Amino acid sequence: MGKRYYCDYCDRSFQDNMHNRKKHLNGVQHHRAKKAWFDNFRDAATILNEERAKEPCRKFLQTGECVFGTNCRFSHMSERHMKMLEQKIDADRRQKEFPNEDESSSKRNVDEWLSRRQKKQAALTSGSVSKIEEEECVENVEIPPYLLSIPDLPPSLRPPPTGGWKVTLQNEWG
Ligand SMILES: [Zn+2]
Ligand SMILES: [Zn+2]
Repeated sequence: MGKRYYCDYCDRSFQDNMHNRKKHLNGVQHHRAKKAWFDNFRDAATILNEERAKEPCRKFLQTGECVFGTNCRFSHMSERHMKMLEQKIDADRRQKEFPNEDESSSKRNVDEWLSRRQKKQAALTSGSVSKIEEEECVENVEIPPYLLSIPDLPPSLRPPPTGGWKVTLQNEWG
């Protein structure tokens, strides 16, 4: 009983000696297993391109079985699966291009708010306040439906009446 060599790729072990190792590491079975292992980590886009380049494996797609397995020269990937992969690639790409998508959108909101504020201040100095205030009241706020279905809300939590609250403007201060 000597040491045993365990091959992770093939998930099998054999008695460890030069001859056995050499035979195993050069074996077709081992190469296939190793390739399949690394295929797991390949770029999804590369996989999709390769699959699209192949003819579909009729046998596999009809029966779910094919003697060639992962080494089949035809594609075992169904149209649905390819679509899913495509979506995943898209999502990954977007993630890479805009890693802080949330941040940038909130940044946009701040910019928007700042420019509105600037306009408002300009209006304040020129005296056309009421117009701006009106605009803000008309602004449509989307109320999530689940909020509307809560009964007996206290007045402060009720959604604003359609058209917004009537605001009486006090332009003159006493
Ligand atoms: Zn092996
Ligand atoms: Zn096949």
